[in-house]
Amino acid sequence: MQAARLKALKADLSLEEVDMPIPGDDEVVIEQLVTGICYRDVLTRDGYLPRVSLPITPGHEISGTIAKAGASVQGFKKGDRVVSLIYLPCGKCEFCKSGQENLCPNRKTYGEDMDGGYARFVKVNSRSLVHVPDGVGEQEATISACVTGMLYHALKVVGNLSEGEKVLVTGAGGGVGVHAIQIAKVLGAEVIAETSSKQKVESLHRIGADHVVMISDSWDKEVKKLTGNGVDFVLEAVGIHTFEKAMRTMNSGGRMVVVGNLVPQPVPLHLGLLILKGYTIRGSVSSTRDDITKVLDLSKRGKIKAISDGTMDLHEVNGAFARIKQKGNTGRVFLSLK
Ligand SMILES: [Zn+2]
Ligand SMILES: [Zn+2]
Repeated sequence: MQAARLKALKADLSLEEVDMPIPGDDEVVIEQLVTGICYRDVLTRDGYLPRVSLPITPGHEISGTIAKAGASVQGFKKGDRVVSLIYLPCGKCEFCKSGQENLCPNRKTYGEDMDGGYARFVKVNSRSLVHVPDGVGEQEATISACVTGMLYHALKVVGNLSEGEKVLVTGAGGGVGVHAIQIAKVLGAEVIAETSSKQKVESLHRIGADHVVMISDSWDKEVKKLTGNGVDFVLEAVGIHTFEKAMRTMNSGGRMVVVGNLVPQPVPLHLGLLILKGYTIRGSVSSTRDDITKVLDLSKRGKIKAISDGTMDLHEVNGAFARIKQKGNTGRVFLSLK
């Protein structure tokens, strides 16, 4: 079968013929129709995650049908529709045992530590699997681990976003941001979407943003004006380009949950502001199987839809990376593996 492979950092991916994966005892092989491209894959290629094991098949947004199951796999069988966590949890540590497998210190990531999703057939450990219910679309299943499940974890589990609260989503036009708008609306919040792209304003309104603010020298003041005292919650999905001003949009007692660090470098943190306003800033990483189950149910009920920027063929992967890096996409960019 063909796989898109990363052989050296900062180099293009290349399409190669590779062997079909064979599942170990506690593993399955998933046949995929589609996979998602994550900004993290672009960062990996660009050398920001230097521990990546090379050469490798990148990609961690893995879903499809089980084509083969190892002898000791329990609860999953050939023909089952599944999605995978973006990582393999150890299953033994205190985090894994308490349902917080996203914090497992021994977790290994698909597409970075072991071959991932940029191929039709992918080998995944059964500890990573979640059943996909009938009525959930292919794309909705594909993004349920890294995008919608991750956002549910950040907004609800970590941030406890509640009905009637005002939430600012930074980088709202990207593959993560557009889905954050949807989930914040499902949770009953009023959503202010920040974007750097004028072309995206209309589509962000269509997706459900109550207000859209264009990045500028004073966009934080604009958010304050729109919301009276400021927002209750910031979902920070960008990092250095928005962090400082995003913090200034919050009302006293505001909570910020950070999920994005698109240019991995430190941000300025005003301790005086943090103290005087009683802010809480937390990080949130990935999703648990429970988060994925919750968002798949929301997708089944039509509350979360995948917002696609388009589907490209596997051999177009380098062009897709370029589009994402230039922030040309509104929504997720998918790769077809049919
Ligand atoms: Zn991802
Ligand atoms: Zn663990």
